[in-house]
Amino acid sequence: MADIKIDWHARAKSLKIDGRAFIGGVRMPAAGGQTYECFSPIDNRKLADVASCQEVDVNLAVACARIAFNDRRWAGLSPRERKQTMIRFADLLISNKEELALLETLDMGKPISASLSVDVNSAANSLRWFGEAIDKVYDEIAPTADHTLAMITREPIGVVGAIVPWNYPILMACWKIAPALASGNSVVLKPSEKSPLTALRLGDLALVAGIPAGVLNVIPGFGEQAGTPLAMHMDVDCIAFTGSTGVGKKIQIMAGQSNLKRAWCELGGKSPNIVFADCKDLDIAAAASAGSIFYNQGESCNAPSRLLVERSIKDVFVQKILAELSKYQPADPLDESTTMGALVDCGQMQNVLKYIASGKAQGAKLLAGGEQARTETGGFYVSPTVFDNVTNDMTIAAEEIFGPVLSIIAFDTEEEAIKIANDTEYGLAAAVWTQDISRAHLVAKRLRAGTVHVNSYDEDDITVPFGGYKQSGNGRDKSLHALEKYTELKTTWIRLK
Ligand code: NAD
Repeated sequence: MADIKIDWHARAKSLKIDGRAFIGGVRMPAAGGQTYECFSPIDNRKLADVASCQEVDVNLAVACARIAFNDRRWAGLSPRERKQTMIRFADLLISNKEELALLETLDMGKPISASLSVDVNSAANSLRWFGEAIDKVYDEIAPTADHTLAMITREPIGVVGAIVPWNYPILMACWKIAPALASGNSVVLKPSEKSPLTALRLGDLALVAGIPAGVLNVIPGFGEQAGTPLAMHMDVDCIAFTGSTGVGKKIQIMAGQSNLKRAWCELGGKSPNIVFADCKDLDIAAAASAGSIFYNQGESCNAPSRLLVERSIKDVFVQKILAELSKYQPADPLDESTTMGALVDCGQMQNVLKYIASGKAQGAKLLAGGEQARTETGGFYVSPTVFDNVTNDMTIAAEEIFGPVLSIIAFDTEEEAIKIANDTEYGLAAAVWTQDISRAHLVAKRLRAGTVHVNSYDEDDITVPFGGYKQSGNGRDKSLHALEKYTELKTTWIRLK
């Protein structure tokens, strides 16, 4: 039977959106009735009035989370019981996939095909994987003297505050809540004010799955009004933050100024992608390089925004990159064939255009794009943009643009490539393209980044840690290492004789 094609525009028209907060298992407005208007970047249509949570709402959510943690309604379940509930939660994401994907696309602007095949699937996979893992993690007995038993156990940390960005809203939320919930914590999740809609549905679905009321709370709102009180809260034990480096620094300060809560920050990037002349297949390298910077409209923290190419192949490689651009032209995000959607809002589009202007002003050579697209829609689109003759001290090479802008930098030697690659305040990801196995290892070792790809850029799996060196943050999302952030290590001494 042929697939029935979904009319996403019709679905969007009939979609009912509930913008109220989710606290203590109940949808509710902000206590003071504050709301803000949430618009779609696709065409600037209004989507919903969303609760604009304030300190009083944060306090209520934290109190609910604390009560739920203290009475052990979730933490006290066996790991196997938590696992089964987490798997039901993951299944519910999949059975509600079309609605969640549509909300994500309308709210954030990414292509519906990406929301369907990547964001919702990966979010569900994160919940499922940490659920599956949690009854397979063992604690330790230390090798102490015969008359003692020393147990080293991991316990849930308590109340976790999770603050997430807008670029992969449901996925970033699940990278936090999956290991936090699997470990037995209660969570207060603050989504970005720019894309709160799927996070709110996570609250509803968690309850349906059987996660007890109060264990997961979702408080939409602005950074300073809802995020700051959460980060400053004296009864939050850990803040798991993903966002910009600037706000990450504030989060660390707030943790120190309040109760010294654990503060884990996954921050920005300006990742180098190094192509040596001995790269075996320049077509594959060009396709992966373009695909990784232009995917998600360039709004990916690990996007390879600095392309370092050995000078002897640069002109050939640049032509190959330009040939890839036709695959990433902005189009209607609700059309399943679209590969590039809208930037998240007008402010983000203006930022990107400002960076493009600075690239031109500082002498980089604009080879493609550089302008707003689809202006007739009322939405916020920018064409895939390529600058050549970039030097690493230009603003477009130094600062995170978070848009579809690629900077090409030539180099002559391996040493120079490593130096340029590491000459950044960030250290999230990097790549090396070479046929020489020794060079691949040596360069990968010397790149100061949390993830290094060799002859690829887009490998990804929930089994591996994700996070950065330097000002790209601390701590890691994904993999069993993520459990370390949401647990305390306890030593229990038992005297035997
Ligand atoms: P942002 O820092 O502006 O906001 C992130 C979150 O913090 C939002 O929920 C926001 O409301 C909140 N916030 C803002 N100001 C706050 C304050 N004073 N106190 C408390 N909370 C506050 O980032 P963004 O623009 O939403 O996201 C883009 C950034 O996220 C980029 O820098 C990107 O690289 C980064 N990012 C990093 C990763 C990673 O894993 N390292 C993943 C995705 C995105």
